[in-house]
Amino acid sequence: MKKGILKIDHNGKKIEINYFYSFISKSEITIDREKYLNICQKNCNYYGKNYSCPPYAPKLSDYSKEYTKLFVVMFRIKMSQIDIEDNFERLKTSNNILRQEIEGLMRKLESCNKSKFLSSGPCKLCSRCLAVIDKPCRYPEKMRYSLEALGVDCAHLIQKVFNKKMEWFENGVLPKRTSVIAAIPFDEVNLKKLSKRADALIKSIAK
Ligand code: SF4
Repeated sequence: MKKGILKIDHNGKKIEINYFYSFISKSEITIDREKYLNICQKNCNYYGKNYSCPPYAPKLSDYSKEYTKLFVVMFRIKMSQIDIEDNFERLKTSNNILRQEIEGLMRKLESCNKSKFLSSGPCKLCSRCLAVIDKPCRYPEKMRYSLEALGVDCAHLIQKVFNKKMEWFENGVLPKRTSVIAAIPFDEVNLKKLSKRADALIKSIAK
């Protein structure tokens, strides 16, 4: 596992993001598409209302037929760095910052791989996903599926890859930190290339 600190500007203030990245073999990933389909259907407002989410997302094995590993990246932020009083808004802003940074990185990494990256959470490229009004996706080349939608157990994934636990917003209590993850399925052939590119990209944004 590689890890370090990125410093980015947010509204004129320097913010530190902890980054972690590593690989995991296909056989070690816990996938249960049916389970997440049911959880999303019962508990999530995005079910059937966003093309990156269930039931639209494919199986991971169909999404990337030849993959043997997942390259996984996690960005984590201490929320005390964000000056917003409302707990929920602070969490939302923190997650948006992390998402923007991690997606920028993953889009650059895709250039040395056949598969597109997988995000966490629903696609937010449009203010309202066109799935809601039954129209085709506006940016099919740019949208990315979420890992959960493909059935990946993300809590298990970060435990296994980074030995970290997910921290949740529960009963109005804000966790100290929040994280986002993203991953790219790849085959053995691309391992060296992907790894070198990730090192170079992270170095270029880590200050
Ligand atoms: S690009 Fe727009 S229409 Fe397509 S999945 Fe994302 S939000 Fe929905």
